Amino acid sequence: MARTSGTLQTTLRAPVSLTGIGVHSGLPVSVTLHPADPNTGITFLRTELAHGGEVEIAADWRSVAATELCTVIGDPSKATVATIEHLMAALRGLMIDNVIVEIDGAETPVMDGSSAAFIDAIDQVGIVTQSARRRYIKVLKPIRVEAGSGWAELRPYDGTRFEVTIEFPIDLIGKQTFAADMTPAVFRKDLSRARTFGFVKDLEKLIPLGLCRGSSLENSVAIRDDRVLNPEGLRYVDEFVRHKALDAVGDIALSGAPILGLFRSYRGGHRLNFQTLQALFADETAWTLVDGAVARRESSSNAELGSSMAAPAFGPNRAA
Ligand SMILES: [Zn+2]
Repeated sequence: MARTSGTLQTTLRAPVSLTGIGVHSGLPVSVTLHPADPNTGITFLRTELAHGGEVEIAADWRSVAATELCTVIGDPSKATVATIEHLMAALRGLMIDNVIVEIDGAETPVMDGSSAAFIDAIDQVGIVTQSARRRYIKVLKPIRVEAGSGWAELRPYDGTRFEVTIEFPIDLIGKQTFAADMTPAVFRKDLSRARTFGFVKDLEKLIPLGLCRGSSLENSVAIRDDRVLNPEGLRYVDEFVRHKALDAVGDIALSGAPILGLFRSYRGGHRLNFQTLQALFADETAWTLVDGAVARRESSSNAELGSSMAAPAFGPNRAA
């Protein structure tokens, strides 16, 4: 199977479909991942709308409509897609640049609550390298956002790294940190199978509000009184923080291109992840676009010479 070289864009070898239910709506939904041309990025195509039309929604931070319990993109007056983060994490985790996500409902299927089913679907068809160069968003200076005791940052870093810490006042979770340089192999092995989790006491409040209606032990780790209710237990001893890191990979993928930088968060979530991207793109001096080959050359010259070459900016094509 073609693996990413780091310098060229990728897409899927063929279309592949999945069906499941939305975790909030509880309604059935089908998704087909289609190969797409270079520089398409990840674009959702909402079909089966009430008025019969279709609407394209770019998987981009500028499309974000809500971040309360999941990440929602689209224009609420036309069409939206909710809970995109686990699919986005799978696509970014495997470094797939160009895909059309055709979806016939308002929420991405939750599957088992992780990215595993999306990875399996992608593996069924395989990944192909395209002729166009990949461009990266290189973080040039630290950006930080805060909310209460939580915060999130993007910092300059020679590579792509995630450091995510959570802290919950129960013995089952406590304080957990996941930190790793992110590669497709690391994403597959260390993050992709980590499931979403929730507290039964919260669920009892959310279901009457029309949320979490599809939530079950099939697609979430349920916690009651410091105990996991799922008979199979946890997939990783620190599955909770790994899922939060998976969410961060998916949310930060809304940057529109892979990030060269370090993402860090403490007690973060979808809103702080999104606000980090807003803050990054609000400051034109905080980032630049670099060619994949330049990024690679630069990191090897840094390693050999300890020098830091200036990366060229793609002025006219800057995405913000
Ligand atoms: Zn999640």
